[in-house]
Amino acid sequence: MSEEKLFMPSYGRHFECIAGDCPENCCVEWIVDIDENSKKFYETAEGAVGEKIRSHMVHEDEDDETVFSLTKGMNHVREWGIEKDDQGKSKLKLSGESADEISSSMNNDAAAQAGSETCDSTFDMNCPFQRDDGLCEIRLTYGYEHTSETCREHPEFNEEYEDFTERSFSISCPEIARLISETPLKKDIDEDDEILLTPLVYPSAPCQSSDAVLNALARARNKLFFNFDEDELLGTHIIHLRDAAFSLQPKLFQMDEAFAEALPSENNMLLDSFFRTGDTLDETDAVFCDGAAGLIKYMIENQDFLTKRWENALNTTLSFLQDGQFSVSSFAEFCRTKTQDISRVFAYFVYRYFLKAVNDCNIVKWSEFVIKCILVSVLVSFATGMDFYRTAALFSREVEHDGDNASMLLDMIFDE
Ligand code: SF4
Repeated sequence: MSEEKLFMPSYGRHFECIAGDCPENCCVEWIVDIDENSKKFYETAEGAVGEKIRSHMVHEDEDDETVFSLTKGMNHVREWGIEKDDQGKSKLKLSGESADEISSSMNNDAAAQAGSETCDSTFDMNCPFQRDDGLCEIRLTYGYEHTSETCREHPEFNEEYEDFTERSFSISCPEIARLISETPLKKDIDEDDEILLTPLVYPSAPCQSSDAVLNALARARNKLFFNFDEDELLGTHIIHLRDAAFSLQPKLFQMDEAFAEALPSENNMLLDSFFRTGDTLDETDAVFCDGAAGLIKYMIENQDFLTKRWENALNTTLSFLQDGQFSVSSFAEFCRTKTQDISRVFAYFVYRYFLKAVNDCNIVKWSEFVIKCILVSVLVSFATGMDFYRTAALFSREVEHDGDNASMLLDMIFDE
């Protein structure tokens, strides 16, 4: 990776892991993959910790991977949210509730009933090397360089393109969610009055590529960010993203007949009619509910759930959409009260996924994926009453970071 061509969101420079204070710690419930170099080291590591490591290394035949088995530890997932002061500075707000209690706070009987169940084997289980104070035993004994690659990198993700690398920071990490919540999306122009080629929330050096398609995608994304007003409603952002995708697709990529036929039309794309109305909201509740319920139902039926609390959250949302409690006007009001936060998380998803079209020549698909990521996060937060950033973090944990679940949502786009 070339350091001089590494781009990342400005808030990444301020990130510091809060370890033992983290309410939804990445050492809880996630199974850690052990990379080959770490595995070699662990096989001969000396001392009691070395023995312990070997006793927790498990080979999973299905994926041909070695992982650490989880144990019941002292660190539990806690309910959390984000609170902002008058200056826009954020802090994590912890309720102290354990994960067992989280589901029962949802406004739905089914969710409350399911709250104490532990259908998933990793529920509230810890990495065996996470100490009671939240610190890592392997890191403390052998040093940072001997923790597994996954642990060293999280919550950073590097996307390597031909001549530059983009780093993103996962919103599944509560501290990153907090940083996103307090970082304004800024407009920026260089000295020649050119729109900068990096997204506006990022450092100012241009990320120009020799790959013409990649460069065109980067320019289009920067234009989106440049025109981005974080006080605009979600519907407006969606319209701009779709317009960009539909105009780029035929210009950048071959549009053979099969692709054109499979392309989601403006009529059948989820909730299109609702969002085309912008803030006038003159569509009926039924039209909106059907589209939204279809999306949530598809996820419930096709997702592999990591946690019961996310499964409960989706079930609560579906019941809410189907049992007549939902109204478009109250949902719109909810979106209005969270305009800035929704805009910032929407920008996060655009940053992470827009350029991926360079790999599969399908910018429409990636744009629709972004739209579904934000819609699910907003809908679930609205229906369950869960903090919006926490909902986005849970979505990220369950879908963004699970290859099968992310593919499931991507596959939906051309199946609609
Ligand atoms: S989720 Fe983020 S803040 Fe929490 S332990 Fe992991 S890296 Fe640290």
